Amino acid sequence: MSNDLSPKERMAIDRVHMPELPADERSTNFEEVNLGLSADQALSEAQRCLQCKTRNCVAGCPVGVSIPEFIDALACDDLPKAAQILRGDNALPAVCGRVCPQETQCEALCVRGKKGDAVAIGYLERYVADWAMLHPDRLLKEAKPEPTGKSVAVVGCGPAGLTAAGELARMGHQVTIFEALHDTGGVLRYGIPEFRLPKEIIDREVAVLAELGVTIECNVIIGKTLTVAELSEDYDAVFIANGAGLPTMLNIPGENLKGVYAANEFLTRVNLMEAGRKEDSATPILQRDEVAVIGGGNTAMDCVRTARRLGAKRAMIIYRRGEAEMPARIEEIKHAKEEGVEFVMLTAPIAIVGTEDGWVSALRCQKMELGPADDSGRRRPQPVAGSEFDIPAGIVINAVGTNANPLLTATAPDLKLNKWGNVVADEEGQTSIPGVFAGGDIVRGGATVILAMGDGKRAAAAINEYLKR
Ligand code: FAD
Ligand code: SF4
Repeated sequence: MSNDLSPKERMAIDRVHMPELPADERSTNFEEVNLGLSADQALSEAQRCLQCKTRNCVAGCPVGVSIPEFIDALACDDLPKAAQILRGDNALPAVCGRVCPQETQCEALCVRGKKGDAVAIGYLERYVADWAMLHPDRLLKEAKPEPTGKSVAVVGCGPAGLTAAGELARMGHQVTIFEALHDTGGVLRYGIPEFRLPKEIIDREVAVLAELGVTIECNVIIGKTLTVAELSEDYDAVFIANGAGLPTMLNIPGENLKGVYAANEFLTRVNLMEAGRKEDSATPILQRDEVAVIGGGNTAMDCVRTARRLGAKRAMIIYRRGEAEMPARIEEIKHAKEEGVEFVMLTAPIAIVGTEDGWVSALRCQKMELGPADDSGRRRPQPVAGSEFDIPAGIVINAVGTNANPLLTATAPDLKLNKWGNVVADEEGQTSIPGVFAGGDIVRGGATVILAMGDGKRAAAAINEYLKR
């Protein structure tokens, strides 16, 4: 099949809609909400791409996926070629096709978006990546690189660590990932719920790394089991990608009451340890009719939609700014609303109220109004005097953000940190210790999957240069 439609014919094709599970059905289970495009839908969407000479979309992608090229191969129905192009640029395409905020990255710069809907680049990425997973026999086998005899230790098995490991293994280095948890994927597995990113997808993406010869050692905490200095002795280079999983506290009265969760704990119980999802799970999780989730990002959306699936009758988002200022992806907000989540906007928590025996009974709040813009460019919320009120709640989940965990850095005194405890690294990931590189959330603070992957990719290139010296 050829992709020789005229620009006018391409412009006449409307953007595809992602098929999804009906809201009333999905809000009671953990099945994936987005169902993926059919072959016809993918082909039609691929034909919408104008194959621009100036590849704006590529500039919007933090790992520089060759977007027009893989879409052209798809439009020509050459899926093996599309998969090869995609996988050459992106170590986790099936993950990125599902969770990347394309609307603010590649799709935001797509020329078609200027006068209508951008090409659905993320949907196409997902389509090609899923096809590749189901058709390994149709893919070109990767040539095995010559072993370099050099070894690299990677700390953390999230998107940054996985990406760096894949790149380094392809360069012929022997790579070992050390992961604190008992399973792989980092936030992809313990944070992002199954209904957005099935665990099977992570397993399959990780299996590709195993095929490349990467060793993954779980249950090893760097900073406890081993130190960065010990890794530096045993390996030729180290890449630190341990994320930023320490919860930011609310610092309001009542935070220690029973029924208050940090988002990561709540999500880890459900996602990694299967509480509430599997009847035979040994991990307990509270279930209450009224659940208040504080925050407006993807983490807050994941918590509130999980709480709804665990049976909450009122699952609420409490956010101190307005909906326009929410950092969560638009799609997540839309899905949450369809699933019956309540959005309590311009509302800030001031205390968590408890019963005599120490259980949460309500979230005390105060109304806010938006003042002038702050440093982030968003309008600053200001309290409205005399506007306090209580929202009944049996569970309160703190999803306001996370910080760097000092476990690793406390045992690496020579590692330069910024005032928030994040590792200081240059553009290529080089830290203050020669041969020790870092990237992802531990450097940036909480960011995105693709930014963490971009760091992993750049650091791998820099490590490769370092190892040649
Ligand atoms: P992580 O994914 O945090 O991985 C770090 C790994 O290191 C973890 O496995 C951890 O267990 C391990 N580790 C930690 N300390 C040690 C140690 N001392 N020794 C050994 N191992 C250690 N981004 C998006 O782009 N789209 C989304 O939809 C999205 N949704 C999100 C939802 C939630 C609930 C959360 C929390 C984040 C979300 N993000 C999203 C952000 C994104 O997941 C992160 O930016 C990204 O995972 C960071 O990757 P990383 O590799 O730096 O760290
Ligand atoms: Fe295609 Fe949009 Fe990229 Fe142009 S900017 S090549 S239309 S995806």
